[in-house]
Amino acid sequence: MRIIVDKSRCDMHGDCVVEVPELFDLEDDADEVTVLDEEPPEELRGKAERAVTVCPVAAIKIEG
Ligand code: SF4
Repeated sequence: MRIIVDKSRCDMHGDCVVEVPELFDLEDDADEVTVLDEEPPEELRGKAERAVTVCPVAAIKIEG
């Protein structure tokens, strides 16, 4: 599984960070979200899918 964020779409809403802090972070000076683990273990798939669902601009995708 690989998490891909379309950084041109990300508007820093932070919903993914609130929902899944294990995988996403917003750093103070950043202008886009940080994916903490782009190839997370399979047991985090449900949480990664949750982030896809909550992103209001559909910027998050899962491959694999
Ligand atoms: S929820 Fe979507 S728009 Fe918001 S920070 Fe995460 S990827 Fe970016």
